[in-house]
Amino acid sequence: MHGERKPWMWEHLTWPQLRQRVDDQPVVVLSIASVEDHGPHLPMDVDNFLIRSICEATGERIQDQMLLLPHLPFGFETHHMDYPGTIDIAADHLVDFVADIGLSVVRHGFKRILIANGHGSNMPVLDLAARKINNQSEDVLCGSFIWPSLILDTLRQTRQSKYPGGMAHAGELETAVYLHLNEGAVAMDLAKADFGFPPSDFIYHDLAGMGPVNLAPWHSQISDQGVVGDPTVATRENGERWFDATVERMAELVVEFRNWHTKPRTDHH
Ligand SMILES: [Zn+2]
Repeated sequence: MHGERKPWMWEHLTWPQLRQRVDDQPVVVLSIASVEDHGPHLPMDVDNFLIRSICEATGERIQDQMLLLPHLPFGFETHHMDYPGTIDIAADHLVDFVADIGLSVVRHGFKRILIANGHGSNMPVLDLAARKINNQSEDVLCGSFIWPSLILDTLRQTRQSKYPGGMAHAGELETAVYLHLNEGAVAMDLAKADFGFPPSDFIYHDLAGMGPVNLAPWHSQISDQGVVGDPTVATRENGERWFDATVERMAELVVEFRNWHTKPRTDHH
């Protein structure tokens, strides 16, 4: 509703309200993804739209457990720059930018931070940013995750596309969840399968489990139209199932992480 202030949204609070939230130590969540080509059947906002929708639905569900920062819509994309419209933030810039956000959160007294990611190639960058936040503060824990990793079992049991490869980029998973959230923006008549990776036991991309070797060539080397996977088998029903399952697991993750403690740091010099 227009004008409504949501108590779990960072930017909706006043500074005295934010200061007060430190007392009960909610998990501070940063959602991040990317502006990136997603084939001829999906808009550029897929990664942003999906992860933000997941985070907002999670916030609604567990209002007093988390605080959601404003969304960061740009990511690491150099390998996608052959496709018009993609916006690329250099990896080292992004590490520092995300770490600066996290360290600002730490400065205000919060001790648990989760980086919720919607774009695969951000993962190594966000891992480094999270480590930087941990290592430049005391008693703070920051971790990162990409949302499909929360529902691997569900995906394996219910997917129609082949594994590996059917759910890499603009494939079955992203198309299905987009159908669930905004069917009118998906041009299913233009959806085409493309398994552009040469067959390999070791090198493959799939959001339900990557191959043992990390290898990201220029995206135009492994795809004709910017799709890697099979969007043609995506259904709105599976999109709803996967979206709901992700929100449920993310809520469980936030609740657990809020009360998750390690031993204190020890300097063994
Ligand atoms: Zn995507």
